[in-house]
Amino acid sequence: INFRQAEFLTSAPTLAKCPADRGLEVAFAGRSNAGKSSAINTLTENKRMARTSKTPGRTQLINFFTLSDSQRLVDLPGYGFAKVPLEVKEKWQRHLEEYLRERQSLYGLILLMDCRHPLQDFDRMMLSWAQSCNMPVHILLTKADKLKKGPANNSLLKVRKELEPMQDLVSVQLFSALKRTGLDQLQIKLTQWLSS
Ligand code: GDP
Repeated sequence: INFRQAEFLTSAPTLAKCPADRGLEVAFAGRSNAGKSSAINTLTENKRMARTSKTPGRTQLINFFTLSDSQRLVDLPGYGFAKVPLEVKEKWQRHLEEYLRERQSLYGLILLMDCRHPLQDFDRMMLSWAQSCNMPVHILLTKADKLKKGPANNSLLKVRKELEPMQDLVSVQLFSALKRTGLDQLQIKLTQWLSS
């Protein structure tokens, strides 16, 4: 798959407004500031790709990018803005859960976590939803360049160990958008999923 061919398709506030549920898609999720936009921009080699998702008013939307007629990447809204009122947060949580549970073309989830603070509440919520619908999750421990090799590997091992009971569904890797570490591994995973 040539990820540079990614093109913005549309934004949707709810499952009902998503594009036709055909073909295959992989969704990217993470707490805000986890490095999701940077990862998508690095993957697509387009510095503006994920900017749409950050435009005020669009941060609560599900953003779709086409790779081909039958393959899409999906940018799920960042999560964890302190300023968002609780009712907005709860509403978004419902839409997110509905999308994960109902969307037929959704093959798997790329879950991004800062390698220095992995497995926060949001991450655990996503993992438990994915587990309950038997959906594979590939975790990117982001900003790996911020840690030395030893501590970065410790973080990787710790997360793998903790998720061992879910190992049939979950894989974990280190990633750095800055240094492009782990980009090959991510591309291989996406290609596998989107070609299945
Ligand atoms: P998002 O909110 O999840 O989309 O996160 P962003 O991609 O906007 O990244 C949040 C912050 O982390 C920004 O200041 C980025 O420059 C920084 N960042 C993202 N990826 C990396 C990385 O691989 N290495 C380093 N050092 N900083 C990163």
